[in-house]
Amino acid sequence: QDLSSERLHDIVAEISKEMADETERGKVADYIPPLARIDPNQFALTIITKDGEVISGGDAQTRFSIQSVSKVFTLALGLGRLGERLWARVGREPSGDPFNSIVQLEHEKGLPRNPFINAGAIAVTDSILGGFAPKEALGEILQFVRFLASDEDIAIDPDVARSELATGFRNVALANFMRSFGTITSPPELTLGVYFHHCAIAMTTEQLAAAGRFLAFDGRLSPGGARAISARMARQINTLMLTCGHYDGSGEFAFRVGLPGKSGVGGGIMAVVPGQASIGCWSPGLNAVGNSHLASQALEQLALRTGWSVFAPR
Ligand code: GLU
Repeated sequence: QDLSSERLHDIVAEISKEMADETERGKVADYIPPLARIDPNQFALTIITKDGEVISGGDAQTRFSIQSVSKVFTLALGLGRLGERLWARVGREPSGDPFNSIVQLEHEKGLPRNPFINAGAIAVTDSILGGFAPKEALGEILQFVRFLASDEDIAIDPDVARSELATGFRNVALANFMRSFGTITSPPELTLGVYFHHCAIAMTTEQLAAAGRFLAFDGRLSPGGARAISARMARQINTLMLTCGHYDGSGEFAFRVGLPGKSGVGGGIMAVVPGQASIGCWSPGLNAVGNSHLASQALEQLALRTGWSVFAPR
């Protein structure tokens, strides 16, 4: 149903206040120092409605590392570039294994299960890289994210990118393993350089909600507005976010929230309500499967109070 703007403002303010008062906040990612030192006492929520209204609560101007949320943007770019051919390099099944698992790759002859586990995202990044120089590919990814968000002020955090490069041994293994099967074709270190850098993009929840609009509005930046990708592709990406967007907690998130979403270990979640709104939510503390504890909780409350769900009849 259509909610009044006033009601939505109230809901966002209520949830932001409740989350600020929460004492159980989860645990921040500590695999690299720039993430380990983030203050867990932060929370932000932004909704952008179909009318273009931006409704925010909490620390919505604070930038955070979007990490795996970037995998949605590279998937959109890769799909736009290769079309259906992309699916020769990456599958579409939820994995059931941890996001950085290598065993499944051996069983399935180097084909990653889906574009949101690390192996799948590395394969997608490799397809974007094609024969180009890493700098060019990265520039293209960044330009695409800025276009999606209609915001030029989005950049890569060099500290995070450096730390990822210095500690990403598991990703190096995944890339080399896939190279041996021909799933990726560029030299693994080049593909990984691009992958680590796009994971290190920093954004606010306002920018994240803006960047997700194309998935809320069937491939366009607003209803009837500029097209980013085809409607069919936007629907395919939403489906994958619903089934695979939250690591091993994807089923639980779909069950509790009922909306397509993608999380990252920086504590961000981008979610969409098709036809209605795009949402950015962030709190750095993570639950046991690596999804933001409070952002998951906030989105569950938001879905409850708005009645938003992809399964609600419209
Ligand atoms: N850059 C991180 C990695 O590859 C992404 C982690 C994530 O958000 O899932 O380990």
